[in-house]
Amino acid sequence: MADPQGFMKFSRSDAPKRPKPDRLQDWNEVYLREEPAERNAAVRTQATRCMDCGIPFCHSGTAGCPLGNLIPEWNDLVRRGDWELASDRLHATNNFPEFTGRLCPAPCEAACVLAISHDAGGAVAIKRVEETIADVSWENGYVQPSQATVSSGKRVAIVGSGPAGLAAAQQLTRAGHEVVVYERDDRLGGLLRYGIPEFKMEKKVLDRRLSQLRKEGTRFVTGCEVGVDITVEQLRAEFDSVVLAVGALRGRDDKTTPGRELEGVHLAMDHLVPANRAVEGDGPSSFSAEGKHVIVIGGGDTGADCYGTATREGALSVTQLDQYPMPPSVRDDDRSPWPVWPHILRTYPAHEEAGERRFTVAVKRFVGDDEGHVRFIELQQVRVEKDSSGRRSVVPLSDEVELLPADMVLLAIGFEGVEHMRLLDDLGISLTQRGTISCGSDWQTTAPGVFVCGDAHRGASLVVWAIAEGRSVANAVDRFLTGSSNLPSPVIPN
Ligand code: SF4
Repeated sequence: MADPQGFMKFSRSDAPKRPKPDRLQDWNEVYLREEPAERNAAVRTQATRCMDCGIPFCHSGTAGCPLGNLIPEWNDLVRRGDWELASDRLHATNNFPEFTGRLCPAPCEAACVLAISHDAGGAVAIKRVEETIADVSWENGYVQPSQATVSSGKRVAIVGSGPAGLAAAQQLTRAGHEVVVYERDDRLGGLLRYGIPEFKMEKKVLDRRLSQLRKEGTRFVTGCEVGVDITVEQLRAEFDSVVLAVGALRGRDDKTTPGRELEGVHLAMDHLVPANRAVEGDGPSSFSAEGKHVIVIGGGDTGADCYGTATREGALSVTQLDQYPMPPSVRDDDRSPWPVWPHILRTYPAHEEAGERRFTVAVKRFVGDDEGHVRFIELQQVRVEKDSSGRRSVVPLSDEVELLPADMVLLAIGFEGVEHMRLLDDLGISLTQRGTISCGSDWQTTAPGVFVCGDAHRGASLVVWAIAEGRSVANAVDRFLTGSSNLPSPVIPN
């Protein structure tokens, strides 16, 4: 039984971070790896703040955890110090809690009843509890390969090894299917490998999970572009079903601002991928921000990743631009009685380290030198307006412009759906108006026996949604192959 007054006895406390100067000297994770005994004691105190609500909004529903994580249950197990059972209950709904604990912006915390009032001291630190259960699980050997006891004799190809593809692979392998994951890159992990910086999640965290999947029987093939290196005919001949987990990596470009064509103006991924490759040991990044004035356009996750990466690379200055007003969480006078997510999460650890954020501004023009390289941006104060149909427009507040030095400009303004790939043409896959892969209520695309999950279906989204969709598509594929399924299906296609 939870302590219903725990939140009145203990304040919320987030995981401690490493000192800022240390963080900027390396690529290691921002959060401090404390001594286990000290860490576990602190996290047990945090778990004690959970009231075990009659209706736990954190757990599911439109605002809570898409995975249906059993949050009050494992909060109470942690409070009592039963880490092994907490691990069991956490893994019952989440294949990769160490990924979500590190990377998810925690919609569960926004949905927590304690987040409603400042007087309650803020949401339960669910993310911190989750990450710690996952870390304790690995430290104590609670995470072990779980092999299927029977074989279905069916073969499934999964295209893409990001979190959605890996979740689907693990579920289907454990259900007894022979699963092969194809990855076009030279290393596994998709966005987790080359999109997410090491300072948010160290790659060893990914690698130990991949090792578990291999031991369970999932096979991986890297450096293989399905549709090119393997034809659709071969795929159809060798597999009973296919899952497309190819992500939504087509970066949104700025096609209207004068000067976009200048050298030095790039999409965010042009910067992040080589930076992550450099950290993996592939040699210096071809897009390093070292010695440059860097402008990051866009106030979301990807923008913050560019910001922290450029800072660590040794940029002369880093400025992040956002058309929207300063989020409440960075205002001194915020006394809003309502949850402020996702705005509160628009402040990232990278922002504390160095650089500057500018709000309600937009670039009017990129200004180049005689060699055609960007050197400045013209900045304007703006307001974002929505018309009655919800369409957004950015309105300048005056003609006044400010000149900022800019040797490298990174466009982190979102993604527009799946990249063009021959595989989709050859399979006869239909796309939605948003550029994602369309599917029916059973996750099946317009190609029979071919399913979709993750960002490729949903559009660029949270890691927790990718895992939830990977688990759900596994249920659909299992039913398709065998006529029924006991696998969980936490979400339905949108
Ligand atoms: Fe605990 Fe918050 Fe969930 Fe209630 S909503 S069960 S307090 S975590």
